Amino acid sequence: MDDHILFHATDAIIGLDLRGSITYSNTSAEHLLGLSSRELLDRDHRTLLADDPNHTYEMIRESLMFGEHIDPIRREVLTKGGKAPQSVLVQYSPMKSDKGKFMGISAIMRKLTQSEKVANKAQALLETAPDAMVIVNQQGQIVLVNAQTEAQFGYTKEELLGKELEILVPDDIVYQHRHQRERYVSEPVPRNMSEDMELKGQRKDGSTFPVEVSLSPLKTENGLFISAAIRNISDRKKEEHKFRRLLDSAPDAIVIVGNEGLIQIVNAQVEKIFGYNKEDLIGKKVEELIPERYKNKHPGHRNSFAHNPKVRPMGAGLELSGLRKNGEEFPVEISLSPMETKDGILIIAAIRDITDRKSAQKELERKYKELEEKNKELEQFAYVASHDLQEPLQTVISLTEFLAESYGGMLDTNGAKSMEYVLASTKRMRQLIKGLLDYSQIGRQAVLAAVDCNTLLMEIKEDLSTVITNTKASIKVEKLPIVQGYETALRQLFQNLLTNAIKFTKANCQPVVSVFCKEEGENWLFGVKDNGIGIDKKYVDRIFIIFQRLHLREQYEGTGIGLAHCRKIVALHHGKIWVESEINKGSTFYFTIPK
Ligand code: ADP
Repeated sequence: MDDHILFHATDAIIGLDLRGSITYSNTSAEHLLGLSSRELLDRDHRTLLADDPNHTYEMIRESLMFGEHIDPIRREVLTKGGKAPQSVLVQYSPMKSDKGKFMGISAIMRKLTQSEKVANKAQALLETAPDAMVIVNQQGQIVLVNAQTEAQFGYTKEELLGKELEILVPDDIVYQHRHQRERYVSEPVPRNMSEDMELKGQRKDGSTFPVEVSLSPLKTENGLFISAAIRNISDRKKEEHKFRRLLDSAPDAIVIVGNEGLIQIVNAQVEKIFGYNKEDLIGKKVEELIPERYKNKHPGHRNSFAHNPKVRPMGAGLELSGLRKNGEEFPVEISLSPMETKDGILIIAAIRDITDRKSAQKELERKYKELEEKNKELEQFAYVASHDLQEPLQTVISLTEFLAESYGGMLDTNGAKSMEYVLASTKRMRQLIKGLLDYSQIGRQAVLAAVDCNTLLMEIKEDLSTVITNTKASIKVEKLPIVQGYETALRQLFQNLLTNAIKFTKANCQPVVSVFCKEEGENWLFGVKDNGIGIDKKYVDRIFIIFQRLHLREQYEGTGIGLAHCRKIVALHHGKIWVESEINKGSTFYFTIPK
């Protein structure tokens, strides 16, 4: 009876010995293979297979001998006596004797129907997808998954097939998801589910991971199916997270704006500076952050940047303001840069609150004004004082001279010496007061003009010709530029430096002086170099202070006012003056005049 069932079964059945030779075949097998049972008997079954005959059989035999179960395998057999290949699904099972001895292998073969072939193709196709692919029917039951799905979610295919799709969805949103799925079935169009929400998948072990899902309907003769491509975006999320951390660590407020000026991303500094929560701003127009009076014009500026996007400061030269949530305005500095993304060009605006800097600047300007006024006052004082002192002093000098002339003869030697001292001191005082008066007058009512320094130096050399001849000084002047300056003041500057260069010479040494000039960036750099006594390093700043001298009058004549004049004159021209010197070798006085 059993034999009869087997023999007439619709599936093709063959028995194989351990070597793989056919020991039995039923009617359907004869049909399928196109050979009689006599032709089949003892034949190596591998000669009837179109695919990988040797290897597979050995593996199958081994697995079965070890008692493993083997799922049906898709194979290609040769039908019509070895001519036409045909796809079949083969179930291999062990054949055992009554005592359980492993005798051979039975192979039950069923032709693959058209729809099974299609399903197999679909499966093969799914396997090529890089994403986890899940196909569900209208009831939401999973009918097909690929290996990626198994790998991502930790389930086997068997565990998933037939289950509700929501097995892959975090528990807390299962209900909502089911509802949405049902809605989708009623209106199925391809779409990206992640556009408006953050999605998560749930693994078998309960852990979740961020995903992006795109859905598309599959209309087949067996009805509507829905395929979902699920991409694990953990890596991308990590990158995004890093990007966020980077943004938040920036010192400036950063606003990233997309098309139409809608805010897409803001960093933590924006919350601090503008007083909004991030969520309040995302999706809003960037004009929210701008004072009312600029709002109308801003979209125009925005568009023009979008058409010519490059890194640059915004509103160069303009005073820019931001608007806090509480309505307060504050000064800002903004730099813009474009960022290319797959959704087009976004604009990154880095915004710095410069309230503190502005107020510091204002304070500085106030202090500067105050100082300027104080300075003017002092100069005025020096002028008035020295001017008014001149007159009584002149009287003292005249009277002393009169006394010396008229009554000098009546004085004894001591008296005559004292009279001489009084005269010398008062004259010296007159010199000092005159110096002071000149000092307070520097730059007053002077007119800025082009001054040819070559002519100036020539005239000065003429004025100093007596000293030059007496000291046998050699004065070399290189070619000098024409500068914008105050002529009288410049004349005095050069004259003071030259006089000093000739005056402070070593004993029995002929002064050698050179005057030169070179361009240095924005400035002319002048130098007056001598071969004189030099200056100790510790005094190089002190000598520019009024009335400061390093020598006794008996050694070198002077009032200590010359270099103070020089410094004031250079400052008047917005330059700097300093000296480089070495004791006993000489000094070079440098000063700059902006071009
Ligand atoms: P004065 O020449 O009337 O003494 P200055 O203000 O011109 O006053 O100079 C201040 C001091 O700087 C001088 O007394 C001198 O000690 C020093 N000094 C100026 N020029 C030179 C120089 N070329 N070489 C050495 N010492 C100098």
